[in-house]
Amino acid sequence: MKKLVLTLAALGLAATAAQAQGTYPTRPITMIVPFAAGGPTDVIARIVSDNMSRTLGQQIVIENVAGAGGTTGITRAAQSQPDGYTIMMGHMGTHGAAPALYPNLKYDPAKDFAPIGLAAGTPIVIVAKKDFPATDLKSFLAYLQANGDKVNMAHAGVGSVSHSTGIFFNSVVKAKPTMVAYRGTGPALNDLMGNTVDYMTDQIVNVAPQIQGGNIKAFAIATAERSPALPNVPTTKEAGLESYEVSAWNAVFAPKGTPPEIVAKLNDALVKSLNDENTKKRLLDLGGVIPPAAEQTPAALQKLVESEVARWTPVLKAAGATAE
Ligand code: ASP
Repeated sequence: MKKLVLTLAALGLAATAAQAQGTYPTRPITMIVPFAAGGPTDVIARIVSDNMSRTLGQQIVIENVAGAGGTTGITRAAQSQPDGYTIMMGHMGTHGAAPALYPNLKYDPAKDFAPIGLAAGTPIVIVAKKDFPATDLKSFLAYLQANGDKVNMAHAGVGSVSHSTGIFFNSVVKAKPTMVAYRGTGPALNDLMGNTVDYMTDQIVNVAPQIQGGNIKAFAIATAERSPALPNVPTTKEAGLESYEVSAWNAVFAPKGTPPEIVAKLNDALVKSLNDENTKKRLLDLGGVIPPAAEQTPAALQKLVESEVARWTPVLKAAGATAE
């Protein structure tokens, strides 16, 4: 009798869980953005989630939880209930570079998440304040090498995209700027426009509008090809710095243990969003790269995370980067 009751209870629980997944989502979903509002991760999250919300029939509410190069927000998201109601927008920093820089990182990018899918590729652009006394990459590098620690470089915290690609840049060109941390490259860009910091390496979606508007200078884009959004900005190879080729990405993750049916629903909504003309246009106008269909799957994202951790760990160690 006891066994029967237990079995019935177990069946009841299973039925409730199945029902919950069948009707998911029944309430708004929180997407944690681990940086300040207005920066690239935030912008990509807002663009992509807009159409996802329509597919899911529930609002996706963006919550900015900034700090420690994005690892504060991602730690919080990783530790939340794996019920599909808390997801996050991670990136090459939080899920690629961070393990090399935080010996006590509270999550393993390859083990503690249910990947949903890649949201956008984001080439890296080398930008400086408008008044920077250099006209092209060559004169910029000469200035950096001659003026050493008089120059400031902005970044979004240790392990962020701008920090890791910046550390890599500085090691390649032998620059030793003073590093200035922000809670995201949205606020960093404001200071760049205000001429209070000198330069940064950041994701194209953040800087493209200000480059187009002539409010900051762009010396090069670190990809093999120029971006259609910035046709006048030379590639690093064209500008004479072939050894600096680097690109970043943003992607949606859920906490590990999120039921596969929910992961599938979220991935379906993400894929629909990336195929929506309006979403595409908004991302492309900012220089974002829409991932090809084969790269929009959870399995492809899992592989990308593993290869990025493997790629960045030796690069950052060789550059002598630490969490300090
Ligand atoms: N692009 C930033 C980074 O450097 C973060 C942000 O999205 O604000 O990681």
